[in-house]
Amino acid sequence: MTDPRPFNFSAGPATLPEPVLRQVAAEMLDWQGSGMSVMEMSHRGREFISIYERAEADLRELLAVPTNFHILFMQGGGLGENAFLPLNLSRGGKVDVVVTGSWSRKSAAEARRYADVQIAAEGNGRAIPPGWQLRGDAAYVHVCTNETIDGVEFHELPDLAALGSDAPLVIDCSSHLLSRPIDWRRVGLAFGGAQKNIGPAGLTLVFVRDDLLGHALDICPSAFNYATVAAAQSMYNTPPTFAIYVAGLVFQWLKGFEYAGKRGLAAIEQRNIDKAALLYAALDSSALYENRVDVSCRSRMNVPFFLKDESLNDRFLADAKAAGLLQLKGHKSVGGMRASLYNAMPLEGAQALVSFMQDFEARHG
Ligand code: PMP
Repeated sequence: MTDPRPFNFSAGPATLPEPVLRQVAAEMLDWQGSGMSVMEMSHRGREFISIYERAEADLRELLAVPTNFHILFMQGGGLGENAFLPLNLSRGGKVDVVVTGSWSRKSAAEARRYADVQIAAEGNGRAIPPGWQLRGDAAYVHVCTNETIDGVEFHELPDLAALGSDAPLVIDCSSHLLSRPIDWRRVGLAFGGAQKNIGPAGLTLVFVRDDLLGHALDICPSAFNYATVAAAQSMYNTPPTFAIYVAGLVFQWLKGFEYAGKRGLAAIEQRNIDKAALLYAALDSSALYENRVDVSCRSRMNVPFFLKDESLNDRFLADAKAAGLLQLKGHKSVGGMRASLYNAMPLEGAQALVSFMQDFEARHG
C-alpha cells in the first residue's frame, strides 16, 4: 500500500475515515478481548448488542433524531427501499414522486408496481423542477434529496405544508446522509444506503416516524415490514452485523471530528461546504472543464463534470490515477467525470484534485 493512501473519489462504496479502517484492522481477530471477530458474534449476544446500542444512540445524537422516530438498521439498499416504501406506506393508494434525476426516476418506476404513482414534477437533471402537482390524498411524497449521478442536491428540504400538502415527505438521502443536519419537522421517513458516508455496503438506514408504521400491505415481506423491524430493534432477522459495527465506529469518529472551531456534524458540514466550494470555483474558472448543474442546487457530495474536449477523458483518468486520485470516472449513463466528496474526504483531497486539474489543463487546455 502507498503511504499516504491515495484520495478516493468513488460515488459508493466510497472512502472511509482512515482511523476507522485502522481500528477495524486492529480489532479484526479479537474484538475488545472477546476472543471473537465482530463477524463471528451472535447478533443476540451481549457483545454485539452493546455495539448496536451504542451505534444507534450515537446516530440519534448526531442527527438529533426525535424520539417519535424509529431508526431501523436494514438490508436491501436504496433500490430495495424503493419497493419496501410503497409496500409499507402506500396502502395501495397514491404516491407522488418528484423526479430530479436518475435515482428518483427509478424510485417512481419501482413504486408503480405497488401503488398509483404520479410524477409531481420532472426536472432535466440539472435543476430542481418548479410547480409540483401534489395530490391531496397521496399516501406520501417521494423526493431524492441528493441525486448521486446528476449531482443535484436540495440545500433545504421541501416544505410540503407550504405547498398545500399534508402528506408525509419521504426522502432518499442515500448520498448525503450525515453530511449535514436533517430538519425532521419536514420529514416522515428518510432512508439511505450506508456505502457513501457511513460504512460498508449491506446496511441500509431507515428513519421512520411512528405514526407511519402499521399500514403495510399483506404482501410485504415480514423481514421488510418496518413495524416488525422496529418492534424487534432491527433484530427480527440477522442484521448486517459487521457493517453496523463499522458504521458505529464512523459515528464515533464523526462525534469527535473537529474543523474550523466546530465539532461533530456541524464541523463535517463546514468541511463539506469548503471542499465543494473549492472544486466548483475551479470548474467555473476553467476553460477545459464544466459542471452543468444550476448553482442553486449543486451537490456538495457528488460533483459531475465534463472535459470540453472529450478525447482527453482517458488521459485525464490515467494521469489522475498516477497522481493518487482514484475513481473519478463519471457514471456510465452520463459519461464525463464525477468527484464524490463524502465526509471522509479530507480538504487536502479536494485541494489535490484541483491542483491536478489545473496542471492537466495547463498541459492540455
Ligand atoms: N438512491 C441513491 C440516491 C443512490 O445514490 C443509490 C446508489 N448509488 C441508490 C438509491 C441505490 O442504492 P443501492 O445500490 O444500495 O440499492
